[in-house]
Amino acid sequence: MKAEILTIGDELLRGEIVDTNKSFLADRLLGLDIETHFQTSVRDDPPAMIDAFQRAASRSDITLVSGGLGPTRDDLTAAVLAEAFGLELLLDEATLETIRSFFRSRSREMTENNASQARFPKGADILPNPLGTAPGFSITQGSTRFFCLPGVPNEMTLMMDEQVMPRIESARGEGVAVRARLLRTFGMGESTLDDELKDIAASGDVSLGFRTSFPDNYLRPLARAASAEQAEAALDRVCDAIRQRLGPLVYGEDQQTLDAVVGQMLAERGMTIAVAESCTGGLIATRITDNPGSSAYFAGGVIAYSDAAKSALLGVPAAALEEHGAVSDPVVRAMAEGVRERFDVDIGIATTGISGPDGGTDSKPVGLVHIALAREGATYAESFVFRMDRARHRLLTSQIALDWVRRTLLDVELVGPKWAQR
Ligand code: ATP
Ligand code: MG
Repeated sequence: MKAEILTIGDELLRGEIVDTNKSFLADRLLGLDIETHFQTSVRDDPPAMIDAFQRAASRSDITLVSGGLGPTRDDLTAAVLAEAFGLELLLDEATLETIRSFFRSRSREMTENNASQARFPKGADILPNPLGTAPGFSITQGSTRFFCLPGVPNEMTLMMDEQVMPRIESARGEGVAVRARLLRTFGMGESTLDDELKDIAASGDVSLGFRTSFPDNYLRPLARAASAEQAEAALDRVCDAIRQRLGPLVYGEDQQTLDAVVGQMLAERGMTIAVAESCTGGLIATRITDNPGSSAYFAGGVIAYSDAAKSALLGVPAAALEEHGAVSDPVVRAMAEGVRERFDVDIGIATTGISGPDGGTDSKPVGLVHIALAREGATYAESFVFRMDRARHRLLTSQIALDWVRRTLLDVELVGPKWAQR
């Protein structure tokens, strides 16, 4: 099946909003093993829309359309699609009643514009929108089946998952179920992963895709089978084999972020953590507290940016700062140990580095970072040089620090990313 995506709206072409709908829709199609061949955006302009609809009808099996279903003057999708194919626009009484009761339940007046949302091209299959007043619709013209969805992302995503995906699956007929999973890895480069997993990737009924989402690499096994159960079973088998091969490099599946995984592990073990952050400026604390329930394991942290703060708040010896500088092994160790002691927690982590773009010297180049983890009886520290922009530098540093917590709890070696050893 050949798919195409068409997003409609002046604001998209003016660059006022980022077209996130396209990537969401393409990703969902990929989950069904359907490649997107074209992505088009057009203005709220009937001739341009007609052109786009007709092109899609001549070249794609499936066309996902987003935007232009609302009640305002620039929302033209249903009317223009009807015009493009010479179809009548018919009022759907059931939809009109749904819109009426939507307004009644909110004690709001319904306008003539809202009633226009109940008009669809003749022959359309109407797709309910539980989150808004604008329903979507599906209709076949030429070689393509159009699925027209609202532009508002949360309405669109729900309708894609609940209305469109099942229709595409059933249109494809019996005997093909496609299921995919995401395995999240941190610490190994994409090409090395590819190499490590060559035999697994080549083993038949499951295909293995790779995706990068800095600083992680995701593996996306996708299984095709006669039934959903068989596809899930094939995925289980391949995911087990990958985990066995990669060991602790795989930290989670699907939506499990590293900070969520670390939080869950700390909670399960009844352990606590505190952070001493210089170059990460609170990013690690933010990531830990992004997770509901983090108060069970997160005691707090210190953003110790200046030397004075490192001394006063974490007890870093002035002599260490003077002799070795703030970005150094003795200082990062003292920070991790200091925060662990002061917050009376099981694990203290610390970061200090030069995120750039300025501030480097010959012996301490831009990108240098020291990370430390202190626990009962031992402190581990290492330094890296990451030549990348400030935002990535901080994100990567926070990822290593969190990964070290995970590795400590798993009782495996604390390592940085293999692609960045120096
Ligand atoms: P509504 O009922 O809200 O009018 P609609 O189907 O008419 O829905 P649009 O008017 O095209 O949708 O878009 C509504 C809002 O949804 C836009 O202002 C924008 O914030 C968001 N949006 C629209 N298209 C996209 C897109 N492709 N990617 C991300 N956001 C989008
Ligand atoms: Mg609109």
